[in-house]
Amino acid sequence: MDKPHMAAPRHIAVVGAGIAGLSCASALQHAGWQVSVFDAAGTVAGRMATRRAGDWQCDHGAQYFTARSAAFRAEVARWQLAGVAALWTPRLCLLAADGSAHAPAGPVERFVGMPRMNAPARWLASGLPLHLQTTITALQRGVAGWQLQTRQLGLLEAVYDGVVLAMPAPQALPLLQAHSRRLASLAAASVMHPCWAVMARYAQPLALPFEAAFVNHGPLRWVARNNSKPGRHGQESWLLHAQSDWSEAHLDWPADQVAKALLHAFAQLGGAAPLAWSTQCWQHAAPAAGHDELFAWHERSRLGLCGDWLQAGTVEGAWLSGRALAAHIAAASPSSMPKPDLAHGVPHPVLPVLV
Ligand SMILES: Cc1cc2nc3c(=O)[nH]c(=O)nc-3n(C[C@H](O)[C@H](O)[C@H](O)COP(=O)(O)OP(=O)(O)OC[C@H]3O[C@@H](n4cnc5c(N)ncnc54)[C@H](O)[C@@H]3O)c2cc1C
Repeated sequence: MDKPHMAAPRHIAVVGAGIAGLSCASALQHAGWQVSVFDAAGTVAGRMATRRAGDWQCDHGAQYFTARSAAFRAEVARWQLAGVAALWTPRLCLLAADGSAHAPAGPVERFVGMPRMNAPARWLASGLPLHLQTTITALQRGVAGWQLQTRQLGLLEAVYDGVVLAMPAPQALPLLQAHSRRLASLAAASVMHPCWAVMARYAQPLALPFEAAFVNHGPLRWVARNNSKPGRHGQESWLLHAQSDWSEAHLDWPADQVAKALLHAFAQLGGAAPLAWSTQCWQHAAPAAGHDELFAWHERSRLGLCGDWLQAGTVEGAWLSGRALAAHIAAASPSSMPKPDLAHGVPHPVLPVLV
């Protein structure tokens, strides 16, 4: 008797191991697809980033995330259960230009990765085939499928049935231009604002009446005491984020001049001069506006887009975008494996947290 025919699972390349790419890749893998995840950086998590050195650490991209949709609330509950996320309840205020402090409106639950912001991404990535330090510079489409041109290794031999670009729109644009006018114009229409960040270390805890504050006047937008977040140990550290207009206007400033300006503004809020500081300029920190689409997919060529820029510029939006794209791909092109209902979440093996 003939054996039932089982085709090889289809293979998707996911470019970008931020939370959108990992959400998409893990859901596709669970739906029976073969996935390979690529990232230019040496680690996963993208803008859910933490800088570390010796006894010191600081989240310098996303500061916290909210969970408003039922699907993301369920995901965050799984992260909490796995010990890679926790509620953060800082002494938080809005600082007005006249120096007065106000309580933020409404009760909002704020979550952070634990013990660092990148922990949920690392957890999601732990079951996925990862290719780090691999910058995709071009996509090539042949009769058999897609191939990836990389900065480090040239043209990769592997041929993929589809490609997902899970990165900020301006980074996706050059990869799209030769292949899809519709997807390229979607990415081209998305403006993303920069953000300068300063991470400041102190020998002693600062005696400030808040642990986090929305500033939104002068050069500063936000300040936070990193070690007020759950699971953080080590040296006192404060994160300062500049406003997007200020960051845009000072993109070409040298880092030490930026640090001086932001630390001066922090001093006016009561912050002391730090022992040491470092900076980061996020070129594509946040989209200027969201899109109507949650994701984009071109079925004929099997090329897709997901990421926060399609969905509100938040961790939740990025995760939802990746998950929705995976559900769409799985529904549009069934793999050789049975398909679960992705709306009810993807189980994860209990794996050690990589820190
Ligand atoms: C300063 C700052 C503050 C923020 N604050 C908050 C906050 O408080 N709350 C909140 O919810 N969100 C916040 N965000 C936004 C949040 O970080 C993002 O919405 C979310 O992390 C985006 O995830 P993503 O997967 O879409 O993109 P990313 O995290 O940017 O991931 C994209 C990945 O693609 C990789 N990549 C890009 N191009 C290539 C290429 N050619 N080849 C290979 N790899 C490539 C990058 O290395 C990166 O790892 C903040 C962001 C910043 C920068």
